[in-house]
Amino acid sequence: MTLNRIPAYIEVVTHGDDPPVTGSVTAVEADGVVGTAIRRGYRVEPTEHGVLVLRRPTARIVVELRPVCRPAPTRSQAQDLSLLAGHRSAHLRARPEGLLITAGIARIPPAAARRLLGRGWVGCLTVQDGEPVSVSVAGRVALALRQHRTRSTHPRGWHFAADNPHGPQVVGRDRHGGRLYDGSSRAVCSCGWSQFAERRPQAAHAARQHRLDSVIAALSP
Ligand SMILES: [Zn+2]
Repeated sequence: MTLNRIPAYIEVVTHGDDPPVTGSVTAVEADGVVGTAIRRGYRVEPTEHGVLVLRRPTARIVVELRPVCRPAPTRSQAQDLSLLAGHRSAHLRARPEGLLITAGIARIPPAAARRLLGRGWVGCLTVQDGEPVSVSVAGRVALALRQHRTRSTHPRGWHFAADNPHGPQVVGRDRHGGRLYDGSSRAVCSCGWSQFAERRPQAAHAARQHRLDSVIAALSP
């Protein structure tokens, strides 16, 4: 039996004014830390770099989980993670060509399986034939960050009112030579979500918030 000791996160625990204690945790251990924190009512604050900050304000405990690998799965890794996320019974299988992952009739070949395990995106207690595997918190965060890539659109700025017969028309005294200023922007996400804002900084803020909310939603499937 080979225990899976692959680190998924560097864990930094700060208790009150004591100096922080740093260690590494596996994907399965991180799943336990996050699950317990959520059950105990900790606030979970993700960052856009996949760091998870777990806070319990009353007890002044802060647990910070910093991913060992950049949470940037490739397209095929994202497909594999999505496939596994939808399966309750994925397992490691020892085959002559190496250790692969099976999920129903689907299989993830050894090289790809090894990379998912190596990045901590898929967790398992031991690395052996028949061991159950599942998408870890680190994997869900990485997948959510990939599925929710956001941006804010460039405002139109100054333009001639006559260019847009449906837009607001110049009324009263025209001080800008028939031109209007449009500073509005739209927050858009690769998932299809979008939101209008009067100004670009607001759109950028809404876009960032949508991305982080998507990560939080992915933590409690
Ligand atoms: Zn989105």
